Amino acid sequence: MNWHVTRVWSKFQQWTRPLYLEIQIKKGLSRYFPRESLTHINLSLATLCSSNCIFCPVERGVSVRQKFMSLALVEKIVRELKSSAFRRKHNVQIISIGENGDAFLNKEILPILRLIHRELPHLKVICYTNFRTFTPDLIDIVLKENLLNFVGCNIDSADGETYFSIKRTDFKKVMEHLNYFIARRRKLRRDIPLGIGMLTLYAYVHSIYNNFGDLPLKLKDKKINLAEIRDDSEDVRKLILPLLDHPKDKLWVTQPVVGWAERSLGLCQKIDYAHLSCSSLAGC
Ligand code: SF4
Repeated sequence: MNWHVTRVWSKFQQWTRPLYLEIQIKKGLSRYFPRESLTHINLSLATLCSSNCIFCPVERGVSVRQKFMSLALVEKIVRELKSSAFRRKHNVQIISIGENGDAFLNKEILPILRLIHRELPHLKVICYTNFRTFTPDLIDIVLKENLLNFVGCNIDSADGETYFSIKRTDFKKVMEHLNYFIARRRKLRRDIPLGIGMLTLYAYVHSIYNNFGDLPLKLKDKKINLAEIRDDSEDVRKLILPLLDHPKDKLWVTQPVVGWAERSLGLCQKIDYAHLSCSSLAGC
């Protein structure tokens, strides 16, 4: 190489070195955290619910014959999560227990939570609940034994009547349990964050109507006048914000609205689950 070519070559190496290093680091990391690595596991402990939200699919859980996941099946899943073969491939950090239904309807909820807490202490266990069946006796045990690391729920209205028209469940009981959770958490000095989502009737109905020109499926046979639905998001803020422990807790507005409950309006294509598999669930 003559002098000129050597200079160009060394400049080229200088420019490309950071890129080369980045590629090497990514290659190295991908051995430990492969692309297909799972980071979250969602357990559907129940496919029944004590609510019937307008934004929850009509056919949710209908095709699942066994309505509650058994402790025995959770044990099997936990064994797999703990196995070195699984841990080599996946980097699971979070287990969510409220997938697809109301986990607290499952009679084995406490043994299941204790099992996860004991066997997988490094994982964060999170639960989305409507607080209807997360009753004071369960709240006490969960808080005392530190069985959850995060609790989420939706408060979609500040008055019982509108709340019932969105969720078909008892607003008074929900608020009673939510307030109990907050008070006991303070008393026991537990550091479990609370996330409250808000999807008001106004936001949901207008979003579905504006995007798809129709009312939500679950309201179709009701006589609804869009102009008469009041935007009560400010009322929800006034009700919820003073209860929360900031900045640990959060109130968020569900944005954007997802039309997963409106499949028969032609919004969503059927998802093909056939190619997915889980060795723990196979044969159950
Ligand atoms: S609380 Fe959740 S699972 Fe139950 S009906 Fe509402 S959206 Fe569906």
